[in-house]
Amino acid sequence: DKISDGFKSAINKIRMKDDEKALKKALDELKKNLLKADVHFKVVKDLLREVEVETKKAGIGKANFLKALDKTLTKILTAPGNYGFVYASKPPTVVLMTGLQGSGKTTTTAKLANYLKEFKKKKVLMVAADLQRLAAVEQLKQLAEQNGLDIFYDENSKDPVDIAKRGVEEAKEKFYDVVLIDTAGRLAIDDELMNELIKIKNEVNPHEIFYVADSLTGKDALNTAKQFDEKLDITGVILTKYDGDSKGGVALSIAHQVGKPLRFIGTGEKVQDIEVFVPERIVSRIMGAGDIEGLVEKTSAIIDEKEAKKLTKKLKKGKFNYEDFLNQLEQMKKLGSMKNLLGMIPGMGNMLKQLGDIDLENSAEIKKIKAMISSMTPKERQNPELIKESASRRRRIAQGSGLSIQEINRINKQFQNAAKMAKKFAGKKMPNMNELMKM
Ligand code: GDP
Ligand code: MG
Repeated sequence: DKISDGFKSAINKIRMKDDEKALKKALDELKKNLLKADVHFKVVKDLLREVEVETKKAGIGKANFLKALDKTLTKILTAPGNYGFVYASKPPTVVLMTGLQGSGKTTTTAKLANYLKEFKKKKVLMVAADLQRLAAVEQLKQLAEQNGLDIFYDENSKDPVDIAKRGVEEAKEKFYDVVLIDTAGRLAIDDELMNELIKIKNEVNPHEIFYVADSLTGKDALNTAKQFDEKLDITGVILTKYDGDSKGGVALSIAHQVGKPLRFIGTGEKVQDIEVFVPERIVSRIMGAGDIEGLVEKTSAIIDEKEAKKLTKKLKKGKFNYEDFLNQLEQMKKLGSMKNLLGMIPGMGNMLKQLGDIDLENSAEIKKIKAMISSMTPKERQNPELIKESASRRRRIAQGSGLSIQEINRINKQFQNAAKMAKKFAGKKMPNMNELMKM
C-alpha cells in the first residue's frame, strides 16, 4: 500500500504538466516512497534511472511514465531461471529448503507439499532433516498429519546428511515425484550451518535449492540471501510472510540483488497460503490493482474449471450477482484465508477492512452477509439492482435477517462497488493505469 500511494502522488505531479521539471518531481516522490517501502537504495537508483530514460524516450507524460515504470518493475522481477515448480526429467525432483531460523522453511515445506499434492496431483515426500532442535521434526510430523502429507524422519538420528540421503532413497524406491528436504536454520549465518547445507547438497544433488526469506526482515533478508547464494548457488527464492506488514519492497530488492527468480510467495500461516510468483501479478499488486487472474486460477483448482470460466465471463459482463457471491464464499472455505483471496478482487478493499484477518467460518461479517443473502428471494439474488433500487426490499431483508437497515445498506453498497470494480478489471492482464489513477 505504501508503494501504491507513492505511485499515485508521483503520478499526480505530472498529471498536468508535460515537462522535465514535472518528471523530476515525480521521480523524487517515487524515490521517497520506494525507500519508505523498504526497497534497497541500489534498486531504487537503478529503477529511477531506467524509468527516467524510458519516459523521455517515449515522451514525458503520465501514460509513458506509468508504462516505463511497469516495464522496469517487470524487468527487475524477472530474473533468469525457472518459474513456479519445475520437475526434473527423471523423478523424484529433489528440492532443498534453506534459510535462517524462523524464515518459514518448515511451514513452506508443508505448503509446497500440499500445493503439489492437491493442485498438481503429485506424490510428495517431505524429509525432516532439521535435527538442530527436537521440536523441528515434531513440527513437520504434525503438519504432515494434519494435512495428510507424507514424511520421512528418524527421531534417533543425529545426522542430517544421512537423513537427507535416506529420504531421497526412500523417495526413489517408492516412486515419489517430489522430495522436499526441510533443513535446519540459525539465527544468523555461520560456517557450521553452511557446511551442513553444502554437505547435504553434495550428498543428494538437489535439482532445486530454494532460499526461504522472511519478507518482514527487510534489508537483512537481502544480505543473507546473497550469502546463501554465494555458498550454495540457490535456484530460487521463496518469500514468506508477505501477508504481514511487509512493505513489498523486499520482493523487488531480492530479485534485483540476488538475480535469482522468486518462485513462490507465502501469504499466511495456513498450509494453503502459498502462491506461485508471477512477476506481472506482483507488479499490478504493487501498483495497487487487484488480481482477477490469480483468483480464478486459485479457485479453479478447487471449483471445477467450467465454474471458474463462467465466473470470469459473468464478471466481464458485470453480471456478478449475490448468488455467485454466496457460492464464492462457500467455495472459499476450502481455500486459505479469505483476506488473501478477496485481496485479489479489485474493489474489495473496503470489505477487507471490515473482515480483518479472520477465519471465514467464524467471521461475524461473513455471517451477516450470509444472513442477508438468505433473506433474499431467488430473483433478488440474481438481480442485485433490485436491492439497490428498492428501500422496501432492503427493509424486508433487514427484518428477515435480523440485521439493521444500516447494515443491509452498507453490505449492499460494498457488493455494488466490488461488482463494479470486478467488471472493470475482469480478464484484463494489466489494469489500465490511467483508469487506476482516477480511482
Ligand atoms: P523455520 O524455522 O524456517 O522452519 O520457520 P517455520 O516454518 O517454523 O515458521 C516460523 C513462523 O513463521 C511460524 O510461526 C509460521 O507459522 C510463520 N510463517 C511461516 N510462513 C508464513 C507466512 O507466509 N505468513 C505468516 N503470517 N506466517 C508465516
Ligand atoms: Mg523449521
